[in-house]
Amino acid sequence: MSADNGTVVVIEDDPHIADLVDLYLRREGFRVLLASDGEKGLEVFTQEDPLIVILDVGLPGAYDGFDVCRQIRARGSVPVLFLTARDDEVDRILGLELGADDYLVKPFSPRELVARVRAILRRTRQGPAPQEVVTVGDLEVDLRRREARRGDLVVSLTTREFDLLAFLSDNLGLALSRQQLLDGVWGADWYGDERTVDVHVAQLRKKLGPDLPLATVWGVGYRFG
Ligand code: CA
Repeated sequence: MSADNGTVVVIEDDPHIADLVDLYLRREGFRVLLASDGEKGLEVFTQEDPLIVILDVGLPGAYDGFDVCRQIRARGSVPVLFLTARDDEVDRILGLELGADDYLVKPFSPRELVARVRAILRRTRQGPAPQEVVTVGDLEVDLRRREARRGDLVVSLTTREFDLLAFLSDNLGLALSRQQLLDGVWGADWYGDERTVDVHVAQLRKKLGPDLPLATVWGVGYRFG
């Protein structure tokens, strides 16, 4: 079977779930690398430069899924799809600013997982026209390299944060509603609500600086530039 679609790292200690995820993703042509705890997972992640990480929240050993996600985030913007056993972990995933790109609550259908992985990778790969850099003040949004830079400094953003910044950059000076942002950035496959937009806008402001020209337009949504 071919493995041309790239590498997926799966960090999951439940062997049944890991095997199922492995089976379904390999069927889709991915190369799948399994790790059963956070430490091994980070090791594989560092060595293999995967397209995406599928990450269980509850892991044995020194690092739980949240710790692993933080470390992955410190090293770049590889998408992370969380697997969680409990609804209350979802609030932590959304609330702790971990930069998860999506999550699934167990038990989930493996087909749903494959659909989510594809959707994340579609968003990551799609992107606007190549070689385009949008400049706003001293902020450069490099849409081809998927990098945000202030001066010489590359700001580490999650996939979704960058997608939001890219969408805003495509619509410079326009007031965009939360719904427009949801449709444009999260797409039809997203089940979240408009609060998601606010959380990500807050993250962009925090990471890119308080002088980021990303204004709240009362009664509408947001305007960039
Ligand atoms: Ca677990």
